[in-house]
Amino acid sequence: MPSSPKTDDTTMFTCAYCQNPIKEKLVLAVSGLNYHRRCLRCVVCREFLTDICFRHSGALYCKSDFIGQFGAICAGCHQVILPDEMSQCKQGLAFHDSPECFPPSDIT
Ligand SMILES: [Zn+2]
Ligand SMILES: [Zn+2]
Ligand SMILES: [Zn+2]
Repeated sequence: MPSSPKTDDTTMFTCAYCQNPIKEKLVLAVSGLNYHRRCLRCVVCREFLTDICFRHSGALYCKSDFIGQFGAICAGCHQVILPDEMSQCKQGLAFHDSPECFPPSDIT
């Protein structure tokens, strides 16, 4: 494996998936990471993620596969709990770490 010094990467984005520089005009950014358009795909169904995507442990998922893999749907607001968001569990249910989803008065 050839070692290339990564000292001059200020002018070009590096794809977080394939580690190659992104020369295209279109750079897709997810959670602060940049991807080629062709690299932004669900790791499960390989569908391109153009609209919405979810990241977990560096892997990208479409909404349905993310829910299928992790089952992180808030029992309070019924929205997907993003990996970046804090969540709380109570009686096997997942909640956003927010008073609206997880009423403090309900803690026993
Ligand atoms: Zn790439
Ligand atoms: Zn998928
Ligand atoms: Zn919620």
